[in-house]
Amino acid sequence: MKNKINANLSILINMFMPIIYLFFSCSLAAGLLYVLYITADNLYRTSRYDFITYSVGYFMYLKRLLHGDLIYVIIFTIISLCIYAAISYKKSKNMISLIENVEEMANGNLNNVIDLDDSGNIKKLANNINDIVTQLRNITIEERKAQQTKTDLITNVSHDLRTPLTSIIGYLSIIEDDKYKDEVQLRYYTNIAYEKAQTLNLLINDLFDLTKMQNHTMTLNTIQIDLVELLGQITAQSEYIFKNENVECRTKFSDDKLIVQADAIKLVRAFENLITNAIKYGKDGRYIDITTEKIDDMAIIKIINYGEPIPAIDLPHIFDRFYRVEKSRNRNDGGSGLGLAITKNIIELHEGNISVSSDYDCTIFEVQLKLDSI
Ligand code: ADP
Repeated sequence: MKNKINANLSILINMFMPIIYLFFSCSLAAGLLYVLYITADNLYRTSRYDFITYSVGYFMYLKRLLHGDLIYVIIFTIISLCIYAAISYKKSKNMISLIENVEEMANGNLNNVIDLDDSGNIKKLANNINDIVTQLRNITIEERKAQQTKTDLITNVSHDLRTPLTSIIGYLSIIEDDKYKDEVQLRYYTNIAYEKAQTLNLLINDLFDLTKMQNHTMTLNTIQIDLVELLGQITAQSEYIFKNENVECRTKFSDDKLIVQADAIKLVRAFENLITNAIKYGKDGRYIDITTEKIDDMAIIKIINYGEPIPAIDLPHIFDRFYRVEKSRNRNDGGSGLGLAITKNIIELHEGNISVSSDYDCTIFEVQLKLDSI
């Protein structure tokens, strides 16, 4: 209601604005004319300067020529028009500038900013147009980024699918062409082809899951879970891997239960990813620490390894899809570069948070999950 009244008031003011300007110009012109008349009259009476007597005489001559007071009407009109032109010049100039700027924006120059020396409605309009163009520019940038991400994803996927596929085709064609020496070599080639097929399968599944999570089409089957119990089970089940890799897993779990509402299968996958990575990339450090604690209404889980640190330059990208630290790119024990992206998505699906820090002392992956308020 109040907005409607304000809008109607604005329309009324705008409608009468030219009349108000004209009225103001006429009043000012009348005042000026009066002051001019008094001053000229006084000067004529008192001045001894010839040019004043001459000017007033010429004025009188003009007055006679125009049959009386018409000269005053002409001077008044000229002064009024001059004042009116001076007042409306700035408005017209700003309006023209606005039109030109909008035309430039319409031609695709979204970096253009309208800057007017005004404080009225035209300025408001210019500011609104600037805001719209800024939003449009941001949307365009976002769209370009999304397009680039899609292109990168397709490039990465094609590369990562092609590599194991080329090996599979290579080894199978050796078998097909009977180019193996004996049964042992046949088994060896079959085994490599099988392992590469497994890698391919894993990659496709990971990719499928990640896409589902990012498109928000993955649903969570949440139940109440005690994180301490869950992590205890995961570490117990990974015992043989720790032994195999010659790594000792030290746990420091909180005495309290840490109950969260979560999808057990997905959460297990997230923590398994982190623990597997800690073993894979930190086995040189000999120890892996897994700790839990309760801070306010949050459960904090840390997975710490002491191997080579992640270079500072890689840290901001570590959760990106397909991102792998340069060194691990060339190693055979690395995965697809999707593990941490999946882990982050799982944690975020649970409205939690994951972060990483790494230096020469240790690499810490910290997961924060909101505790269930039973
Ligand atoms: P990958 O399939 O290569 O393991 P991830 O997304 O799990 O992909 O990890 C991305 C990269 O982050 C890895 O290639 C590795 O270089 C680095 N990384 C992950 N976890 C750790 C860790 N605990 N310690 C050191 N580096 C790690």
